[in-house]
Amino acid sequence: MDPKHVVRDRFSAVESDLKGISRWLYDNPEPAYQEHASSARLVEFLRSAGFAVEYPAWGLETAFDARAGSSGPEVVICAEYDALPEVGHACGHNVIAAAACGAGVGLAGLADDLGFRIRVLGTPAEESYGGKIDLIEAGAFEGAAAAMMVHPSPEDVVDPSFLAVAHIDIDFHGKESHASFRPQLGVNALDAAVQAYVSISTLRQSLYNTDKVHGVITHGGGAPNVIPPHTSMAFYVRAATMDRLSELKQRVEACFEAAALATGCSVEIKPRGHTYTEMHNDPLMVEMYAANSELLGRPMGRALHHDPGAAGSTDMANVSRIVPTIHPMLGINSYPAVNHQREFAAHTVTPDGEQALRDGALGMAWTVVDIATTGRWNDLGGALA
Ligand SMILES: [Zn+2]
Ligand SMILES: [Zn+2]
Repeated sequence: MDPKHVVRDRFSAVESDLKGISRWLYDNPEPAYQEHASSARLVEFLRSAGFAVEYPAWGLETAFDARAGSSGPEVVICAEYDALPEVGHACGHNVIAAAACGAGVGLAGLADDLGFRIRVLGTPAEESYGGKIDLIEAGAFEGAAAAMMVHPSPEDVVDPSFLAVAHIDIDFHGKESHASFRPQLGVNALDAAVQAYVSISTLRQSLYNTDKVHGVITHGGGAPNVIPPHTSMAFYVRAATMDRLSELKQRVEACFEAAALATGCSVEIKPRGHTYTEMHNDPLMVEMYAANSELLGRPMGRALHHDPGAAGSTDMANVSRIVPTIHPMLGINSYPAVNHQREFAAHTVTPDGEQALRDGALGMAWTVVDIATTGRWNDLGGALA
């Protein structure tokens, strides 16, 4: 039988279980590095499907590594399953996890016949910290021939752009005093935070479309009649490349330092979690995935036709720097709802969300079948021939 039919039949046999897993994750959202029940649920499914699963894996309590196939090039299908505080699975990682398991099950029985190895790698903490970067540092991607995942989105884009991002925490330290009786003896740390916020807003005029600076005041003071001695802010700085990110970070840090100088405060600027790089989509896998998605009745859009500034960031981008990678975005018919909105979460468990699960799982698995049956492993990681 055609290997793609084998994949489809194996997927179809577990499709209702996978929809159940996506729904269960949706109902039980756990944020970054707290995905204990989520990872356990996925591991239970993968073990029952015949995978050899290491759990926990790579030194991370909520990571797992499920393997099938005994020899040949190794493909890593990444499963994300962290949710967002307050808005649950508003990035649709429940669909990512279920699609990854579906691709794995579809491919596992073919791995030895077609001469490859398959891993479904449970990658926690994409929304903050950067779990895949911890996994890279632990060696989880060493020797992999290819890596892939799919991600729910308002639209189908096979080769999305993702911006590099640095996450920073800022603390201003001043001196408390009575805000009416002796304000002259205080040093107002809230003034420093407000000055920094306004300076960054002013800086935006001279930024590129793909430069992003956005942040919040996480601690703004305690009482109106006490000059705030301490304030905290959290900011993300994003840019199209790591080089541009380092330039932009200097400009942003200057805003915090200038605010400290102007108000007489001291300032501490600290990185939080890992820096995510920009994304490199593997050209050959992009074309193979697009052709397979077309066969599935889901023609894919191209990044070329989208605003490069309408982009987020992902730790999968760091994987893409060391392993040939794709990360197609799959529409779930959610507009006007977009990622990180409650309404988007609700769309992940509709028939459109379930169609993305199916198309994503089969699109990834068929792409692996194409690489294996055409023997093009050595063409990955290069320019398109
Ligand atoms: Zn997200
Ligand atoms: Zn996401």
